[in-house]
Amino acid sequence: MEKVHDLAEEIRKTGFQCLMCGGCCARGEDDGMLVLVSAPEIRAIMDHTGLAWDEIAEPYPEWIPAEGGGEFTLAWCLRRTEKACIFLDEQKRCTIYPARPLICRTYPFALEEGSLSVYACPGTGHTPSCSEAETLAEECIRRDSAETKDAERTREIFMTMELGPNEHAVVDSEGVKRIWVK
Ligand code: SF4
Repeated sequence: MEKVHDLAEEIRKTGFQCLMCGGCCARGEDDGMLVLVSAPEIRAIMDHTGLAWDEIAEPYPEWIPAEGGGEFTLAWCLRRTEKACIFLDEQKRCTIYPARPLICRTYPFALEEGSLSVYACPGTGHTPSCSEAETLAEECIRRDSAETKDAERTREIFMTMELGPNEHAVVDSEGVKRIWVK
């Protein structure tokens, strides 16, 4: 509890209010907007929207050569249009707000090796209410714990992976998912 309080205090001092600009959900000039999403989060979005896995997520576009041939990647990210995340509407609102991934809930904050990191965002510097800062702190801690567990499980699965030549797969916390790549 103390950890939440201390983190909330740090967030409050940094300052943050979402300005609803949609900037963190849009693709920049360098095409850098990749929203990582875990397997349980994809399943939560499937339940919320009725969409299929492939309609929600695409493989993280960093393919690594496997020992026996083939290639793999170690994450999923939310699908994007040419301009933004597919779940951002014309009014710059998130259409899956209750089921949005933890990375979206905590942006621009993240816990990295126990310390608070703050990413570029026009909303920083604005004073949040105490309850907003507490909620952000709780979500940062929840995200850190979920990401650690997910990474451990993914690593275990990766250690047993065997890919044939020309096979492509995404390794996640549920298993090795072979996919077809153009
Ligand atoms: S899921 Fe929602 S909050 Fe996250 S990037 Fe997409 S539109 Fe933005």
